[in-house]
Amino acid sequence: MEIKKIGVVGAGTMGNGIAQISSQIGCDVVMMDIEMRFVEGGMTSIDKFLSKSVEKGKMTAGEKDAVMRRIKGTTDMADLKDVDFVIEAVIEDVELKKRVFRKLDELVRPEVILATNTSSMSITEIAASTSRPDKVCGMHFFNPAPIMRLVEIIRGYATSDESIAIAKELAKRMGKVTVEVKKDSPGFIVNRIMIPHMIEAIKMVEEGIASIEDVDTAVKNGLNYPMGPFELMDLTGIDIAYFVTEYFYKELNKESKWVAPNLLKTMIRAGNLGRKTGSGWYRY
Ligand code: NAD
Repeated sequence: MEIKKIGVVGAGTMGNGIAQISSQIGCDVVMMDIEMRFVEGGMTSIDKFLSKSVEKGKMTAGEKDAVMRRIKGTTDMADLKDVDFVIEAVIEDVELKKRVFRKLDELVRPEVILATNTSSMSITEIAASTSRPDKVCGMHFFNPAPIMRLVEIIRGYATSDESIAIAKELAKRMGKVTVEVKKDSPGFIVNRIMIPHMIEAIKMVEEGIASIEDVDTAVKNGLNYPMGPFELMDLTGIDIAYFVTEYFYKELNKESKWVAPNLLKTMIRAGNLGRKTGSGWYRY
């Protein structure tokens, strides 16, 4: 089946980026969220991103209009009825994701693949809430989705080879590099590596070993990473880092190395979650 129309559930940071790249490969897109203000917020983010691309001469104004026109925003999940592929990007809450997958399973054609952009959670558990676990896989995009090259393609317990091949092919059409995660394991590849270094960075600040700025400066200049761990959390969401840490603790044998540092919890309690100017570690 040729994928011509893609459904994206969630119009937040990741959802709108995924909707944008889906449209940029010529697909029609239905981007759904629970309230119109979130859908409109997603549309505005796409518009801003594409306007910058036009300013930089990377695309013409006509091309930008065509990308925008192919994206339909909605709050009604029924509008996803006739899509050929679904990518879910609602918040990182497994019960919510299971509810969304149950509804999608009832709604879309039986042959349609349902992919989740979860950062850490079990594809097998999400897939088990549907009647098509062979057609459920992880498709983990990185933030910002239109820029970051990697997509992790994750196999749940029952995911078929065909579903993995189709998801890989779609990611490649979007211009992405793919890696296959052969076993459904918390955090897949990148986050399993990234979270320990975020935890360690926060602990160093907590212990007064170095400042936030100096930890970031050290990592950028000593490891040649483009961003330090605090800058990265401010971009991707401190709440996401916290949810993933808590999930690792629960799923990876409650090992002490996965305990969220107090300072991370304080940031969450203060609602200081990053992702926008004036919020995050650099406001702390
Ligand atoms: P976000 O909070 O920016 O967006 C989530 C959106 O989902 C919100 O707009 C919310 O209103 C919407 N939503 C909630 N319930 C819904 C429902 N029932 N139906 C439709 N929409 C619903 O979150 P995000 O950062 O875009 O993260 C989304 C997913 O992507 C999470 O699973 C996250 O772990 C994953 N992810 C995030 C990043 C990142 O850097 N932020 C990177 C990779 C993967």
